[in-house]
Amino acid sequence: MQAVAEYVGNIRRSAGTILNGMAVTFSYMFRPPITTQYPDRTPKPITDMIPERYRGFLWVDLDICISCLLCERACPIDCIKIEDAKIDKILVTSAIDGKATPKIKDPTRFDINLYKCMYCALCVEPCPTGAIHFTKEFEGATPNLSDLHLRLVSPERKAKVMEAADEAAKKEAAKKAAKEAAAAAAAATAAPAAPATAPPPAPASDGAPPAGE
Ligand code: SF4
Ligand code: SF4
Repeated sequence: MQAVAEYVGNIRRSAGTILNGMAVTFSYMFRPPITTQYPDRTPKPITDMIPERYRGFLWVDLDICISCLLCERACPIDCIKIEDAKIDKILVTSAIDGKATPKIKDPTRFDINLYKCMYCALCVEPCPTGAIHFTKEFEGATPNLSDLHLRLVSPERKAKVMEAADEAAKKEAAKKAAKEAAAAAAAATAAPAAPATAPPPAPASDGAPPAGE
């Protein structure tokens, strides 16, 4: 008797499960289709249709990159290579909190190997200005691997940075020279004048003591 009850119970549970599943399936018969015929026919650009926090290709806003190298050091598989030059201090606006951040170095090279990148965001998190960030771009199909090696600093930009670095170096040298000259002048002014001392009286040639003794 117990075996029959169990058998009937199993049939009831199976039927309930099938009905639940079919209810979900049938509910889609009354909804508008949501198929996106990518890439030929999309109602709007595909990048407008993917979530805000999507991790697409990395990009760097070089204008606000302060070349702190935190991203390069954070990458566990060495995707990022940065070289830089020292420039005159400027203030840039952080994309994270809008605060003014001092910038004294500008990248002359900023390469990202997208074909190695695993989109872990370890480089994005420590960036103090939000310069390095994910975009929504993901269409990177290419027959050339080197197309996925981003070289973000163009030769024109590098030339401008080097020019600014030369100017900064000249100013720094002039400042240093002026400082040294000022220090030398101050040292010369502060040096005590030599005391005017009377020469000792010459001893008498006959061995007599000097007058007054
Ligand atoms: S996302 Fe990860 S793997 Fe890619 S560059 Fe940044 S730290 Fe490296
Ligand atoms: S962490 Fe940000 S500011 Fe620093 S070098 Fe990388 S991109 Fe530039």
